[in-house]
Amino acid sequence: MKNKEKEILEIEIPSKGIRVKHATCPNGDSLMDPEHKINGYPSVTVKARYKDMEGMIHLDPVYGSFKTVSEIDVPDGEEVEFFCPVCGVSLTFDDVKCEECGSHMFGVYLPRGGRIEACLRNGCQFHNLKMVDGKELLAKLEEYHTLDSFL
Ligand SMILES: [Zn+2]
Ligand SMILES: [Zn+2]
Repeated sequence: MKNKEKEILEIEIPSKGIRVKHATCPNGDSLMDPEHKINGYPSVTVKARYKDMEGMIHLDPVYGSFKTVSEIDVPDGEEVEFFCPVCGVSLTFDDVKCEECGSHMFGVYLPRGGRIEACLRNGCQFHNLKMVDGKELLAKLEEYHTLDSFL
C-alpha cells in the first residue's frame, strides 16, 4: 500500500460479517441490552413509538440482519419513531430520508465517529453504515481482517 495514497479502495463487507458491540444515542448512552439477546448477542435496544403505543424494540446487532423483537405491533409499511430508552432523545434524523421509500431514517452512533442509519418504515430494509475515519477503519481491517473489533 505504499505510494498509493490516493488509491480508492472498495471494501466488500461480507454479509452479516459485522456485529455492533457498542452503539449509543447522540448523548452517549449505551443502547446495548445484554438482557435481550438476539442470536446470542446483546441487542441494540431503542424505545419505539407508533401512534399512541410505546414499547421497546430490540434490534439484531448483526449488521444487515433484520431479526427484531418488538413489544409493540406495528403494521407493515407504517413508520415508527425511535428514542433513546435512557435519556429519551429522538434517534430520528430530520435531514436524512430513506433512498428507497422516502421515510425518515434513524441512527445509532458507533465508537470513533461512525454511525448506522436505517429506515423507520416497518418492512423497508434500507440501511447504511457510515464511517467517518476511513483510514482508521482500513488500518483495523488490516490488523484484524474483520470489522468486528472496530465496532
Ligand atoms: Zn440517551
Ligand atoms: Zn425506507
